[in-house]
Amino acid sequence: MKGLITLLLPAYNESENIDYLYDELMKITKQLPYLVEFLFIDDGSKDNTLEKVKNLARFSNHVKYISFSRNFGKEAAIYAGLQHAKGEAVILMDTDLQHPPSLIPELVRGYEAGYHQVITKRDRRGETRFHKFMTSTFYRLMNKVSDVNLNDGEGDFRLLSRKAVDALLQLSEGNRFSKGLYSWIGLSQKTITYQNVQRESGKSKWSFSSLITYALDGILSFNTKPLRLCFYLGTVSLFLSFIYVLYMFISIIINGINVPGYFTIISSVLFLGGVQLLSIGIIGEYIGRIYNETKKRPHYIVNESNATELKTEVTAYPYPSKIYPQGTTRTEKKEKVGF
Ligand code: UDP
Ligand code: MG
Repeated sequence: MKGLITLLLPAYNESENIDYLYDELMKITKQLPYLVEFLFIDDGSKDNTLEKVKNLARFSNHVKYISFSRNFGKEAAIYAGLQHAKGEAVILMDTDLQHPPSLIPELVRGYEAGYHQVITKRDRRGETRFHKFMTSTFYRLMNKVSDVNLNDGEGDFRLLSRKAVDALLQLSEGNRFSKGLYSWIGLSQKTITYQNVQRESGKSKWSFSSLITYALDGILSFNTKPLRLCFYLGTVSLFLSFIYVLYMFISIIINGINVPGYFTIISSVLFLGGVQLLSIGIIGEYIGRIYNETKKRPHYIVNESNATELKTEVTAYPYPSKIYPQGTTRTEKKEKVGF
């Protein structure tokens, strides 16, 4: 009995690419020792993407689709796809042909070698220098402020094992920043590098403002450091205002008052300003905690354990074979630590 692999394909206005992509994917996946399910997520396309997909589904029953009522964004499409994927592994890829289907066998090989995430990393050939500069700055900044480690060029084109998919589904937060989430769940990872491909047809859906939103999402969904900034600023300005007020007080005692009223006004402004900023910082600390709680992330993701198995049949010995399913050929790699 062959295993099943799901190809998760989010599509927004990609009608020109669907047929070609399907043909290419068929050519490649036919050679795999797996059954393959094509799961298209039509993200509220305005062209006839959905018709194209339905047409494919009419002729082959391994083509599945979910069509959104409107455009909800790629992150939502991926989430829906992960929820509905039936495969023992899921391959995420764009439908704009920027993710070369020829890499799929290598992804599957990585999976068979026991990795839970097989990630593709593209180089940045053919991009403008400005774009390269912006992205590298973005990643450097992100890794400084964020609690998770992000790598440039590693996008959504990746294979996830069932365990990784289930872990991602446990993260049910609304503002989904996938790149961070992949890193957050951990589990063993392998990276494959490939050459950047230009878009085949249609155009990228990224606008400058959506990139800014993306950057903000990335920074805000993985830490509350910006809130803590208030706290630090408040403390520093309160401290400085004390020194300044003290300095003025001493100079008044020595030199007398130059401008009447100046001392009282400036010292109360500085002092109150500092106190207010500090108070906002304290409130920010609470908000940060509330923010983290509301995401309801699981406290941990288990990689391996025998504790749950023991709980079911503690006294039975030798253990019934149903607890240890036969025929597991995959050997699982140890979890990689260090992010
Ligand atoms: N996409 C989507 N919903 C959106 C925007 C994009 O499902 O709101 C899909 C799109 O069809 C493509 C993938 O996400 O398959 C990547 O989109 P795009 O090529 O615009 O992003 P880029 O490759 O420039 O990062
Ligand atoms: Mg693209």
